[in-house]
Amino acid sequence: MKKNKLGSTDLYVTPIGLGVLTIGNTQLDLPLEQGAEIVRYAYEKGINLFDTAQYYETYPYIREAFKGIDLLPSNPDRPIIASKSLCLTYDEMEEAIQECLDALDLEHIDIFKMHEVRENPDWENRAGAWQCLKDYKAKGIVGAIGISTHHVDVVEQMAEVTDCDIVFPLINYAGLGIRKGAGTGTADEMAAAIQKCIAAGKGIFAMKAFGGGNLTGTYQKALNYVRDLGTHSIMVGMGKKEEIDDLVAYAQGTLPPDYQPDVSFKIIHIDQGDCEGCGSCVKRCPNKAIYYNENGLADVNYDVCLTCGYCAPVCPVRAIIMW
Ligand code: SF4
Ligand code: SF4
Repeated sequence: MKKNKLGSTDLYVTPIGLGVLTIGNTQLDLPLEQGAEIVRYAYEKGINLFDTAQYYETYPYIREAFKGIDLLPSNPDRPIIASKSLCLTYDEMEEAIQECLDALDLEHIDIFKMHEVRENPDWENRAGAWQCLKDYKAKGIVGAIGISTHHVDVVEQMAEVTDCDIVFPLINYAGLGIRKGAGTGTADEMAAAIQKCIAAGKGIFAMKAFGGGNLTGTYQKALNYVRDLGTHSIMVGMGKKEEIDDLVAYAQGTLPPDYQPDVSFKIIHIDQGDCEGCGSCVKRCPNKAIYYNENGLADVNYDVCLTCGYCAPVCPVRAIIMW
């Protein structure tokens, strides 16, 4: 599979990457061997970028998957592993990096990021964590550093942050989940911010091209939109070998133009860790399929849910996903 130079870094990445979140305990919760097999299969099929996070608790799958593979930077064919942490302080970031290195049995990790940076003052509040990333890059323990975000403002800001190598923004053609200030942003606004980052030499891998599964029904349109922005890789959560085969074929240009995967098995999930109980989805659901559970958070009544996806766009924190 062809590879794209990841901005100004010396890394070359495949146009599709594997988001490892999907196989972990917040989604499919696959047994270790089965999850590791998915990761290994993706690598054997040619995918070389693997994104995870401290919060996802998926390091064991990655370690198992890449047993026996030379992960040192001197191996140009190695899987490139990216992780990230939600932490705020220098000490917490230091712990997060060390936890990752220990869990993966590494002395060096290619990419480490600040996870889910929100609009200011979040960036300023996490200055300690950012300084730690810079120091670990200077020591040669982390290869490239950056951020992930759902926020247009943060992506725009990163174009000006010279130390930032990688930006991992949320982008899809429908604008699902994009934030701007305290409200929602549009796909056009995020696309413009991404262009600024690309012009500034940032490496861009994009998340949520399918809007949390809600755009899978327009499979190639969703992928083409994000690819054609000039992003270097599109991270997709994949839990099945067939999904990997489809995306590899897409990246290689061998997927028939009218191909559409079967998404009939997909159902709506509301991430209880992200839901803020605002009630927007309860009001939006035309089928009265969402209710407040005993914790005051939104939950789905699968007896009446039609998986129409109408609820997902109104969620301000992208807690509603379809898979
Ligand atoms: S997918 Fe449709 S029916 Fe199901 S909860 Fe969301 S809006 Fe309601
Ligand atoms: S819209 Fe999102 S945050 Fe609000 S209640 Fe529904 S799932 Fe929770």
